[in-house]
Amino acid sequence: MREKIAEVQSAAETWSPAQTLAWAFETFGNRVAISSAFGAEGMVLIDLASRVRKDFRLFTIDTEFLFPETYALMDKIERRYGIAIEKVYSLLSPEEQERTQGAALWSRDPDRCCNLRKVEPLRRKLGELDAWITSIRRDQTTARSGAQRIEWDEKFGLVKINPIVDWTSKEVWRYIQQHGVPYNSLHDQSYPSIGCTHCTGPVRAGEGPRAGRWPGVAKTGCGLHAITPAQALPPTEA
Ligand code: SF4
Repeated sequence: MREKIAEVQSAAETWSPAQTLAWAFETFGNRVAISSAFGAEGMVLIDLASRVRKDFRLFTIDTEFLFPETYALMDKIERRYGIAIEKVYSLLSPEEQERTQGAALWSRDPDRCCNLRKVEPLRRKLGELDAWITSIRRDQTTARSGAQRIEWDEKFGLVKINPIVDWTSKEVWRYIQQHGVPYNSLHDQSYPSIGCTHCTGPVRAGEGPRAGRWPGVAKTGCGLHAITPAQALPPTEA
């Protein structure tokens, strides 16, 4: 599979999101799924996918610390697109986490909390897939700037497909408005990037879109999309 990705990778850079999604569904069938936390980009991706294939797979990592607005949006998505979101949970309930790790782990050791509630569940879910589709964009973070439209995900050992990797935030919002795509109502309350309640706040004027994530902590991501330029081209199997 790594060699197959190397063959299509450079051509794929010119593909539209619809072409990319069609290739993904055709190549991987039921072994590919969209991963989403239902941010603005994620909503665009879900809408684009629904125009390519009606019964696409969609999963989310439910940390059980999400905003009520996010859960409401999930219900709306299931009704609008006629799909059932596959929800993936931590092996530890919030109560078990508190009992075994102590109270408010997110404030003392957010990396450990993210590992327990996001990274391990994602790794488990990806273990049943050959490819995953994400809505990451190159201009979101420095770590994402080297992302390719199709790449080998070295960290999780499967194909990673990023159909809107070259879109700007402006293009995302233009699509949402043009197509009446639902979105998280917190976006209208100065929350450009939305994660868990414990680690997400509003941004102030002039701050970057992810300034509200883990405010006051030197942490910019949860470890789900660790991309380095070295990952852009998959190593061939020696
Ligand atoms: S974002 Fe915060 S609460 Fe959510 S899993 Fe990570 S550290 Fe825990």
